Amino acid sequence: IEGASAPATPLVTNAGAPARRLRILMVASEAVPFAKTGGLADVVAALPKALGALGHDVTVVIPRYRGIPVTGEPSTSYAVSMGGHHYQANVYVQQTSPGVRVALVDHPAFFDRDALYGIGSQDYGDNPRRFAFLCLAALEFARLEGRPVDIVHAHDWQAGLAPVYVKTRYAGDPVLGSAATIFTIHNIAYQGNCSSDWLPQLGLGWELFNTDGLEFWLHASLLKGGVMFADLVTTVSPRYADELMAPEFAFGFEGILRHRAANLLGILNGIDADVWDPAADRYLPSAYQADDLSGKLDAKRVLLDTYGLPTGDDLARRPVVAMISRMVDQKGLDLIASVAEQLPHLGAAFVILGTGEPWYEEMWRSLARRYPDRVGVRIGFDEPLSHVIEAGADLFMMPSRFEPCGLNQMYSLRYGTLPVVRATGGLDDTVQNYDPASGAGNGFKFHDASGEALLGTLRWALHVFHNEPERWRQLQRAGMARDFSWNASAHAYLEAYDRARAQVT
Ligand code: ADP
Repeated sequence: IEGASAPATPLVTNAGAPARRLRILMVASEAVPFAKTGGLADVVAALPKALGALGHDVTVVIPRYRGIPVTGEPSTSYAVSMGGHHYQANVYVQQTSPGVRVALVDHPAFFDRDALYGIGSQDYGDNPRRFAFLCLAALEFARLEGRPVDIVHAHDWQAGLAPVYVKTRYAGDPVLGSAATIFTIHNIAYQGNCSSDWLPQLGLGWELFNTDGLEFWLHASLLKGGVMFADLVTTVSPRYADELMAPEFAFGFEGILRHRAANLLGILNGIDADVWDPAADRYLPSAYQADDLSGKLDAKRVLLDTYGLPTGDDLARRPVVAMISRMVDQKGLDLIASVAEQLPHLGAAFVILGTGEPWYEEMWRSLARRYPDRVGVRIGFDEPLSHVIEAGADLFMMPSRFEPCGLNQMYSLRYGTLPVVRATGGLDDTVQNYDPASGAGNGFKFHDASGEALLGTLRWALHVFHNEPERWRQLQRAGMARDFSWNASAHAYLEAYDRARAQVT
């Protein structure tokens, strides 16, 4: 994971103004507030904002899906040629923050649909065409503007062909030909694999269908295109970057990523420190900070009330364990299921928010029915409630099997809620296990992917809660003091851009 190349011109001076204003073209399938299904959308909003604030010029290109409002005529319209056909791109451009424009690519036949990627777990059959079009529309948009692009930064399989087109179709292009390409993997479980029959329709030559190109176990993989053709590959935590060398995490990509290990880099996501701030959170009954947690107790009361769980005078001494999650195996729901019957007997209240596999939803509902004084469950997506949970809980459970970065553990730390996590991916990078000898740490961590390990760690955490209140406060303070804002991550991306540019020039 070392870079051999000499550094290019430094991108940030000591004064904070960029030594050179970079023109950055980002391509992605979602971005807050326009479209979101997961953490990707948060990153594609927050990272450009932070880069723009550092003085760079960022254009983010995403599809205009159904329901994304636009007004007036498109800012620009042009035809994109792909596989012998021409597809019209109507692009609506809006400035979202200083230095940042979002270009919404409209092509109703591709994007005016019920969902982003498909219905349930069934992907739309023409996803390769839809997202190849997105990549080409983004690159053509830059070409029409005529000013050379320094960086093409593509995210996840939907944008995987952007680096491929830059390095093939646009290799000698005055605008794109000298751009460095970065590809970021947010979750390698999603790969954009399709039949090789698609290649000609996407304007890709058969010479690309080999193991150094897009071929992946006899299929074509758009993710692999991004991984193989980008100058630099990044993922969303250093630990996940290491894990991706192993089969149990990489879903068939381990060999490919080992091949690219010298140019693979993990950069931790940040959080939106304005939205997730216990001192200024509009969803909380009272604000609080590390030196006075009385507002946290107010949130606990509201939380238990909301869930119909008993409150009372001894609230501070009765622990609440929370979870906000997609209810799927990735998030460790199967580990929880294996010990679920024991959870109500740990001496804590459980508050759960999420949606997912019907059988996991029913598991929680069943516990809540049988233990109405100890287990509260909300099936659904509820942003305001998620803030009250983060504030009102004492412990936050994330027993993920894998977790590229994870956001909730960082929210928890900021809110003085101690995370109980499995040591994987971004969870391992952000949570330091409590060390009883020194008192150091900011949460509780286990390694085995087993229900017993989770249960044992919960018992230990609850023991500390009841018996070591001073130590508990120390752990809370340590978590609340840590800076998870995007500023640090944005600088790390700028260093990555530097490195990629040095490779191109
Ligand atoms: P992933 O993207 O794998 O689902 P992350 O932890 O990276 O996991 O991001 C998930 C985001 O969605 C977090 O901000 C989390 O709080 C939020 N979230 C997940 N489920 C719910 C829910 N049911 N209600 C409110 N917010 C949720």
